[in-house]
Amino acid sequence: MAKKDETPIGPTGRPYHGFPTPPKLAQHGPARIVSLCNQKGGVGKTTTTINLAAALADYGRKVLAVDFDPQGALSAGLGIQTHDVTTVYDLLVDSKRDPRDAILPTAVANLDVIPANIDLSAAEVQLVNEVARESILSRVLRKVAPDYDVVFIDCQPSLGLLTVNALTASHGVLIPLECEYFALRGVALLIETVDKVRDRLNPTLQLDGLLATMYDGRTLHSREVLGRVVDAFGDDVLETVIGRTVKFPDASVSGMPITEFAPEHKAAQAYRRLARELVSRGAVA
Ligand code: ADP
Ligand code: MG
Repeated sequence: MAKKDETPIGPTGRPYHGFPTPPKLAQHGPARIVSLCNQKGGVGKTTTTINLAAALADYGRKVLAVDFDPQGALSAGLGIQTHDVTTVYDLLVDSKRDPRDAILPTAVANLDVIPANIDLSAAEVQLVNEVARESILSRVLRKVAPDYDVVFIDCQPSLGLLTVNALTASHGVLIPLECEYFALRGVALLIETVDKVRDRLNPTLQLDGLLATMYDGRTLHSREVLGRVVDAFGDDVLETVIGRTVKFPDASVSGMPITEFAPEHKAAQAYRRLARELVSRGAVA
C-alpha cells in the first residue's frame, strides 16, 4: 500500500493525486455555471469544454455546454450541424425565446448543447445599446440552470461584450493555458477583467483554476513554462495537466469527445481526472 509520502510528484511540482470517483448525485441541479475563458486563441478552451463536459456526463452529471464562439467549434466537435437550428444568438437577441428551444442532445448521454454559428458575430454590436447589456446571457441561462448540474460556456478568444456576458452569467471561470512561451502574456489582463466583472457585475464570481494544456514533459520548454505558471499562480494552477497529443485533432474531426472516441487514451484519462479534481475542489457538484 502506498504511504502518504510515496504519493508521486506531478508536473506542477505538487503531489499527484488520483482524486476519487465522484459519488452519484441523489438529485440534479441547480447548475453551477463555469466559463472557459482566455482571449488567446488555440489554447484548448473548446477541447477542454467538450472533453470535461463529456467526462462529467460519464460520471452521471447532467451537463449543458454553451457554444459562445461564432466559429461554432464546440458545436462541430460535438457533431452538431449549426445550419438552420436555433442558436445562442437567437436567445440573446429575443428575450421572449424559450432557451429550451435551442438545446440539442449530443451522442453522449447526459450532455446537451446550445449551439452557435457565425450569426453570433453580429451580437456584440447589436447588444451594445441594450439595457443591462452585460447580463443578457445570465438571464437566458437562469431559465435552464435548474435542469443541469453544470453549465460550461466556451468563450470566444476576446475580452469583449460576449465574454463579459459569459463572466457575468458564471459562478466560476476556468482558464486554459497552452504550455508555450507567451502563455502568460495576456493572463494578467484576463484576470483584471475577471476582477472588474466581480467588482461591478457579479460579486460571487470565482477563479476556479488555471489549466495547463498541450504539455510535453519531454521538452525543457514545456517544463519551464509550466514552472513559470506555477510560480505566478500557485495553487490556482490545477494539478491536472493536459498533455499534447495528436488524438485531439482526430477526435474533433470525428465530432466526438476523446473520452468517447478513444476512452483509454491518456488524454481521455487526463480529462476524467480533471473532472474528478474539479468535483474534489467543489467547482462542480
Ligand atoms: P481554443 O478553443 O482555445 O481556440 P482549441 O480547443 O480549439 O482551442 O484547440 C486549438 C487546436 O489545438 C485544435 O486544433 C485542437 O484540436 C488542438 N488541441 C487542443 N488541445 C490539444 C492537446 N492537448 N494536444 C494537441 N492538440 C490539442
Ligand atoms: Mg474555441
